[in-house]
Amino acid sequence: MQIFTESKLTQVQNLFLEKKNFVITAHKSPDGDSIGSSVALYHYLKKKKINVTICHPDPHPYFLDWMKGTETIINYEQTPDAVKAKLEEADVIFCLDFNTLNRIGGMSKVVENSKAEKIMIDHHLHPSDEFDINFSDPASCSTAQLIADFILCMNDEQLLDENIGEAIYTGIMTDTGSFRFSSVTSHTHEVIALLMKYGVKPYKIHEAVFDTNTLDKLRLRSYAINEKLEIIPDSQTAIISLTQAELKKYNYVKGDTEGLVNVGLSINGIKRSIFLKEDGIIKISFRSKGENNPVNVMAATHFEGGGHANASGGKWNGTLAEAIQKIKNVLPEYD
Ligand code: 5GP
Ligand code: MN
Repeated sequence: MQIFTESKLTQVQNLFLEKKNFVITAHKSPDGDSIGSSVALYHYLKKKKINVTICHPDPHPYFLDWMKGTETIINYEQTPDAVKAKLEEADVIFCLDFNTLNRIGGMSKVVENSKAEKIMIDHHLHPSDEFDINFSDPASCSTAQLIADFILCMNDEQLLDENIGEAIYTGIMTDTGSFRFSSVTSHTHEVIALLMKYGVKPYKIHEAVFDTNTLDKLRLRSYAINEKLEIIPDSQTAIISLTQAELKKYNYVKGDTEGLVNVGLSINGIKRSIFLKEDGIIKISFRSKGENNPVNVMAATHFEGGGHANASGGKWNGTLAEAIQKIKNVLPEYD
């Protein structure tokens, strides 16, 4: 792997030998990739006899609870003092699945001021220079795949096992829309084949992540499609929005709207899908089809966000109605 150069790997080897306390963190609003890569790296470091704690900005969605290792994660939202204490004593912080420190929310200042060596492993565009060692590959489909590459480049294939494999598989599966996005390469499938050799059963993971819906989640989804889906024909764009009251009506819990944005995108003739959720602030997800149809520019220019060309996010500090109006106003700029 190009990004895992001999000299950087030697630096990491030395940190493994010399440093005592390691922390793994990942971006806010965790997804399968940020959790999968964190947990995989956690099991790997444990096998290397390294003292390590996963410290995330906020809790993960329930559909990842089954993954062995998630029970050890502490988060800044629920236990800020415990997280601060771990960060203060950390010698090395692995920063996974994000490219700038502001993606870890309230924790970012603590990490920024920490004396620890910061190692980034990530696949987002435009990595910042806030990290001491930077393993950034925007061509990789997921950070989880980079964790597999990292372990292999460290010559530690023999440490792979079912726990590490299931976590990596989950990250790759969720960040590639179950192996369908253009980011999937033959190397992705080689990594998956290797994980299966170490005991991963794909059907088990698909079931654990996708076949554990609650009725409330499905009813919220059906309500969103029936009542809240709007098509902007001139821009070939689908918009779905959900208010706080609507979420409450269906007993919304984190993770319940996962994938809803892809429903809009799946409509024939639609090239762009936008999902807005009034959950504290207005959180916005953008998705698009095709190579010449990026949504990250719109997310960055108008909604304080960014991300990948076909999958981005952002936010709006105002009302839901204003956010939708803003989208409708700026859409023609991108047609
Ligand atoms: P999602 O719609 O699943 O929340 O986010 C999709 C992708 O957009 C994420 O993988 C991430 O790359 C990016 N993204 C989401 N929210 C933000 C944000 O607030 N800022 C930036 N820079 N990127 C975001
Ligand atoms: Mn990712």
